[in-house]
Amino acid sequence: MSSTIHPFDQDIDDNTEWDSPMFRLAQQQFLKAAEIMSLDENVRDRLLFPQRSLTVSFPCRRDEYAEVETVFGYRVQHVLTMGPTKGGIRYHQDVNLGEVSALAMWMTWKCALMELPFGGAKGGVRIDPTKLSRSELQRLTRRYTMEITDIIGPDRDIPAPDMGTNEQVMAWIMDTYSQQVGYAVPEIVTGKPVVLGGSLGRTEATGRGLVYLICEAANHMGMDLKKSTAVVQGFGNVGSNTIRFLAESGVKIIGVSDVSTGLHNPNGLEVNSLLEHIDQHGILKGYAGASEISNSELLELKCDILAPCALQNQITSKNASKLNCRMLAEGANGPTTLEADQILIDKEVFIVPDILGNAGGVTVSYFEWVQDTQNFTWSLEEINDRLHKIMVGAFNRTVLRSQRDKLDMRTAAMIEGIQRVAKAKLLRGLFP
Ligand code: NAD
Repeated sequence: MSSTIHPFDQDIDDNTEWDSPMFRLAQQQFLKAAEIMSLDENVRDRLLFPQRSLTVSFPCRRDEYAEVETVFGYRVQHVLTMGPTKGGIRYHQDVNLGEVSALAMWMTWKCALMELPFGGAKGGVRIDPTKLSRSELQRLTRRYTMEITDIIGPDRDIPAPDMGTNEQVMAWIMDTYSQQVGYAVPEIVTGKPVVLGGSLGRTEATGRGLVYLICEAANHMGMDLKKSTAVVQGFGNVGSNTIRFLAESGVKIIGVSDVSTGLHNPNGLEVNSLLEHIDQHGILKGYAGASEISNSELLELKCDILAPCALQNQITSKNASKLNCRMLAEGANGPTTLEADQILIDKEVFIVPDILGNAGGVTVSYFEWVQDTQNFTWSLEEINDRLHKIMVGAFNRTVLRSQRDKLDMRTAAMIEGIQRVAKAKLLRGLFP
């Protein structure tokens, strides 16, 4: 069998268009799984790069100055085989094509693992949204939407929130798209406000889904959640909801963090007062009921459950051996490097990998899209029941494969996803 790209023979650094530490991590994880599952070489090479990558630059006018900034934006669609593509939009000052492409690739495996009819996509704008006024954020969002409008659509590619974006940003995307076509198109995005066709339960779905899995994993490990402690990095959408639902399950939260600081209280943090503090101040710094620690100290706290829910590349070969948890439940995308993975496997830490751990978000996004396309709404109870069923089903399939084939949980989850995509690719065949 011949192919133009031989990933094991050539340096993947050669493909400079997408090159970034995160894209290399996504490729390395994929290649590891592909080798173990003896994936057809042609399919493997085809899946190693995104099918479509759009890079745009556009002007963003500031409020108070006659200043116009040139901003870079991206939308990447990794696999178009499975149905429309699906994935969030990230606003962060470090966003680049490689990062967005890695996130798009992970979305493909995640959707396939959850058996959702989507391929993976992701978008991003390289800007710090915390430095923008509301009107600047709105102008930026509307212009970015226009720039990517040709490749998105309710049957093509459906954006959602990710880091730095929220339901208000989704509302502006929906409005901008709808203005172009002349009628309201709620199904163009998910994670929008309920009054615009958003789904009940979507805002908290990623955290809720992660906690459903933590309960399953604890059960599997014989861990009593009511006697367990947890540390959660990140206090945004995923982190704050994870903390909420963990506390509701009886877990003692002993450490939390955001970009401003880490907080530690071995006797347990008061979750409601943390949420109130965030409501008032926007950041955790200044909270009185705990001692301040750094984000790196936070990751090394002794606890039963560690949930990274902020950024990628947090657990590396430098700190993995210092982790002091029994379970690593990944809410963030790409928080753990391949080298760190091996160290944690050797330490017998049970890993709920990101493509499984944070899949509650895209699962309820799927529910939102289905409700919008059918003009029909489901109750919160119905949504949470269906979410629970899908999350537990994917967890059980992953554990089963991991035990049967003696694989770590990440590789098992990746193979579950990859095999579905590979099967679909082979069945559809090549054009022309
Ligand atoms: P968010 O913007 O709502 O919150 C991000 C949080 O991370 C904030 O509390 C911020 O202060 C904190 N943070 C930023 N930089 C940090 C740093 N250097 N150290 C520690 N904390 C830092 O974002 P989110 O939507 O909660 O997304 C978090 C992660 O979860 C991302 O990796 C994202 O891709 C992933 N994710 C999100 C969703 C979703 O539905 N929102 C779904 C799946 C995966």
